[in-house]
Amino acid sequence: CGIVAYIGHQKASDVIIKGLKRLEYRGYDSAGIALMDGGLNVYKKKGKVSELEDFIKGEDLKSTVGMGHTRWATHGEPNDVNAHPHFSQSGNLAIIHNGIIENYAALKKDLEGKGYTFKSETDSEVFINFIEDIYNNNDGTLEEAVRLALTKVVGAYAIVILSKEKPNQLIAARKGSPMVIGVGRNEFFIASDATPIVEYTNEVVYVNDYEIAVIKDSELTIRDTKDVKMTPYIQKVDMEL
Ligand code: GLU
Repeated sequence: CGIVAYIGHQKASDVIIKGLKRLEYRGYDSAGIALMDGGLNVYKKKGKVSELEDFIKGEDLKSTVGMGHTRWATHGEPNDVNAHPHFSQSGNLAIIHNGIIENYAALKKDLEGKGYTFKSETDSEVFINFIEDIYNNNDGTLEEAVRLALTKVVGAYAIVILSKEKPNQLIAARKGSPMVIGVGRNEFFIASDATPIVEYTNEVVYVNDYEIAVIKDSELTIRDTKDVKMTPYIQKVDMEL
């Protein structure tokens, strides 16, 4: 339902929790966060963002890279396990996903045939394992695996992916679900709308359908699912909070 991701120099958990609260108006049943903190750590809870906030209160979270999600369940009841982020089978990748993958049942069946098991009932966990399977069976980068996966999934999505192998990288993509990237000074924000972003920067890039954004080494690159490089169009937003 709502996504917020951050990469930069600020404490990511603070930016993300605050951002998720700004997206609360969209409605949701659970919330979760993934932080690149030495490893890739996920905290998720059924209920309000404030409950997630209480849940992580005692943790020493210094990470400056992370992503958070508020879920409006479509596949699988609202509970802690079905909340996002979801890990891939190996634990190397994590995803947050808004939307619905319509062909998830067929993809899941194929993956189960290859030995994949699933912890949740979500279409989103199928999505990240589909990406992992393509990544493991090709020589290319994770970005290329995401691109190939997007040519095969049917449905609507706004996704952000973190990989343990690339702790300073965010990969994001969308089709049919909104996504905007805030461009700060050596920091980037990704969110479902500009409300979590505007207190930090008024320069935003609206991601279009079938586009994949990769943020690494303080640089934003956008390609479409045909692998054509796009020029990010930076717009100024004026928004009162
Ligand atoms: N289809 C996904 C799920 O049920 C994502 C729902 C959403 O957009 O929050 O977990």
